[in-house]
Amino acid sequence: MSTALVWLRRDLRLADQPALARAAQAAERIAPVYIHAPEEARPAAGAASLWWLHHSLAALDAELAAAGSRLCLDSGSSAERLCHWAQISDATVVYCTAIAEPWARQQEAAVAEALAGIGARLEVLPDGLLTDPSAVRNRSGTPYRAFTPFWRSVRAQLDPPRPTSPPALPGLPEAIPEPQPLEALGLLPRIRWDEKLAASWQPGTVGATQRLERFLETAATAYAEQRDYPARPGTSRLSPHLHFGEVSIRTLWHAVHDARQAQPAAAEALDTFLAELGWREFAYHLLWQQPQLHDTPIDKRFGRFAWREDPDGGLLDAWRRGATGVPLVDAGMRELWATGWMHNRVRMVVGSFLVKNLRLPWQHGEAHFRDTLVDWDLASNSMGWQWVSGCGADAAPYFRVFNPVRQGERFDPDGEYVRQWVPEVAGLPKSHIHQPWAAPADTRARCGLRLGHNYPEPLVDLATSRKEALAAFQALG
Ligand code: FAD
Repeated sequence: MSTALVWLRRDLRLADQPALARAAQAAERIAPVYIHAPEEARPAAGAASLWWLHHSLAALDAELAAAGSRLCLDSGSSAERLCHWAQISDATVVYCTAIAEPWARQQEAAVAEALAGIGARLEVLPDGLLTDPSAVRNRSGTPYRAFTPFWRSVRAQLDPPRPTSPPALPGLPEAIPEPQPLEALGLLPRIRWDEKLAASWQPGTVGATQRLERFLETAATAYAEQRDYPARPGTSRLSPHLHFGEVSIRTLWHAVHDARQAQPAAAEALDTFLAELGWREFAYHLLWQQPQLHDTPIDKRFGRFAWREDPDGGLLDAWRRGATGVPLVDAGMRELWATGWMHNRVRMVVGSFLVKNLRLPWQHGEAHFRDTLVDWDLASNSMGWQWVSGCGADAAPYFRVFNPVRQGERFDPDGEYVRQWVPEVAGLPKSHIHQPWAAPADTRARCGLRLGHNYPEPLVDLATSRKEALAAFQALG
């Protein structure tokens, strides 16, 4: 009886899952295996991402059980453990889907080599993206460095296959042992700070499908106008589900594309959304070109940027804790800490504040987001930080320093978002909520706000720090 392994990675779903579909066609028995191998991922995923993974694996196991199968969990070296599973289940083929990250290609090569050593083979199928990030080229045959021409060319040619339904799953091989219990993988933090994340998210395909349906029903057609307002439910919040492959990118693409066909009046809003998926593709295209995207600036001049000294780490710590004294920045950092997610507009604002007002290295921000975002994604996070800092491809020009007060007045005009996350300033009228230091003393007193006591004075003066940043950028030549 022919047996195959399906090596699950960032494709934690049953529907439109190329590795499962191929195995179900080819084999009479399938063992779906997940190997936790944190030391093989570079850089390693942070605590919030591991929390998500734990719950996503639990959800997948339940789905597999309902389909008459089970998730075989293991940990250690992927190559060694997959050989073990192949041998005990008599499998000669291991199917998996690709992860377009540099370390993952090395992992695939090591697994393929080890399997060849025991007379088995690895078949890697494309998934996770709409494009092949290694293959996209401009007219002169070189990779793209700017988003707009990249997306114009890619979008015109995109024709992803329609998503497929879950296959009928063959049973497990007879000779497989009891898998490790999920808890043994140690994905949950030892100090249980994570309970608050559960209030915001439902990892797994059920949660992903609900998010997608809700977005299509309520927000998609107004996406272009609403997506920049952090207090409004204007974006999909699908990012962690997409990262872990709980919904396939083809499913999302076609759902939005079909909505676009059905509602021509909403075409602009839905095109704006599809272009955001384009940014995700572009991030992987950049990562392909620059494997060290997370810590090495694309613009090499930034290697000699005059960062501010922060000997005791006090500035960085205040930024991380949401205690900078600038309400929109603090609101974003507290939203991140409480929910593992932050609105895109606010990610740009807090990033700009760290790099340009505090003048601290962007790599600190990248690392903090890596540890705290449930949607942490090597390509998108690295690109986002390089963009915010002005050192990436297609970067915001260095002289674009987001003013967190103006951004707040524009995108949180009533101060609703700030009031939710920074209760210390919640009593201020909207005219002062984004700059409490400028409120008259009696207004502050009436609202119970004592700057420097129950809410910090701003860490830096916005205008002066902006000028200093511009001077430091100009010195790069
Ligand atoms: P929606 O607006 O609903 O967009 C739909 C999807 O498009 C998102 O889920 C995401 O997959 C993709 N997308 C949207 N905007 C971007 C973008 N600018 N770049 C790449 N993909 C995008 N996104 C991550 O998924 N993981 C990260 O680690 C990450 N780090 C970031 C760091 C910084 C400094 C910045 C400025 C942006 C970062 N982003 C990251 C991009 C963006 O902020 C999030 O994708 C978005 O906020 C997720 O919310 P959503 O699902 O509601 O997005």
